[in-house]
Amino acid sequence: MDRYRQTKIAGILGIIGNIFLLVIKAFVGYISQSQAMIADSFNSASDIFASCMTFIGNKIASKPGDSDHNFGHR
Ligand SMILES: [Zn+2]
Repeated sequence: MDRYRQTKIAGILGIIGNIFLLVIKAFVGYISQSQAMIADSFNSASDIFASCMTFIGNKIASKPGDSDHNFGHR
């Protein structure tokens, strides 16, 4: 498996895992009235954003070379 495919899978798993954590933490924080748990669910939301940036950055970096970028877009 090549590096771009591995990084793509890592980005997708990061998004899925953090959506799961966001939902669980927000739910448990809400039913237990825990501000710390709700705040940590927002931290998971920012991690979803970071995983999206991993996914998008990897997609841009995996483009092959063209006339402006002879050695690819890495
Ligand atoms: Zn280019």
